[in-house]
Amino acid sequence: MISSVARCLCGEKLLSLSAMPRTLDPELRSALAARIRYYNEMGIYDFYRRPVSAAVAVDEAEIAIATNPESGEEMSPRKAPAVAAPRVAEDNIFEVVALKPEQSASDPVKALKIIREDLGDCTRCVLHKQGRKQIVFGVGNPKAELMFVGEGPGADEDAQGEPFVGRAGQLLNNMIKAMGIEREQVYIANIVKCRPPGNRTPEREECATCSPFLMRQIAVIKPKVIVALGAVAAKTLLAMSASMMQLRGRFYDFRPAGVRSNDSNWDGCKLAVTYHPAFLLRDPRQKGEAWKDLQMVMKELGLKAPKSNT
Ligand code: URA
Repeated sequence: MISSVARCLCGEKLLSLSAMPRTLDPELRSALAARIRYYNEMGIYDFYRRPVSAAVAVDEAEIAIATNPESGEEMSPRKAPAVAAPRVAEDNIFEVVALKPEQSASDPVKALKIIREDLGDCTRCVLHKQGRKQIVFGVGNPKAELMFVGEGPGADEDAQGEPFVGRAGQLLNNMIKAMGIEREQVYIANIVKCRPPGNRTPEREECATCSPFLMRQIAVIKPKVIVALGAVAAKTLLAMSASMMQLRGRFYDFRPAGVRSNDSNWDGCKLAVTYHPAFLLRDPRQKGEAWKDLQMVMKELGLKAPKSNT
């Protein structure tokens, strides 16, 4: 195990992070960057930081600090094994956490606006040149206790600039109502903010490029529960690969990757996985299973179904 003082082995240098200056010496910095590239080439992208008093936020380069490569401790490869560990958000030893511009805004409306401005007229992935009409950022209560995350906008969403406004959206609205709440009380967003052509499933690369903005939205909204709608949302948020059967039916502890909330009292939330409404439209027999998932969420949030649903 790694000692309580987080340490970094870098070439010949043994470094105690608790005494580490905020600005790294350029030589050490480039050695760390080389070490991280080395891990990346081995398929390791996620590094975890044990909470230490001297925050090692290595500015805009977002350089992560790695543990001893020989030990391989506390690292997770990007492709996780098929079955998830129930707790996703373990206390991290090293984690890439960059300061985001919205973190200075205490008002979530302003903070979300800052994220939207940062997104701009996004051209970060190929979806921007594959026929999208507009970016579909997300909609709803910026202080929502409950968030729904889908896959990506369809034709209706692309036309209206709002997630879940088509047929799947109507069903989602009914699901929300059945939980005893209104659409306006929750926040709804997608993994990718641009419509994939022909409603194809977003590519892994597209999800990886776009989801950091969603992670920032989550850190601002600070929900109590997130419901991942369908496999793309579940796998992207949980950074794991498993079937819907394996993913559903329990809560995961979730913290948005790569970003911290500016509220030290918010230490992540619960995440549940259920079927995507579009799938339920194709296979209505699964609605009962989805309702079980939502009931689990309702219990967590202390929600009661309206009389007509009981
Ligand atoms: N499907 C999604 O995943 N998201 C939407 O916004 C609409 C349909």
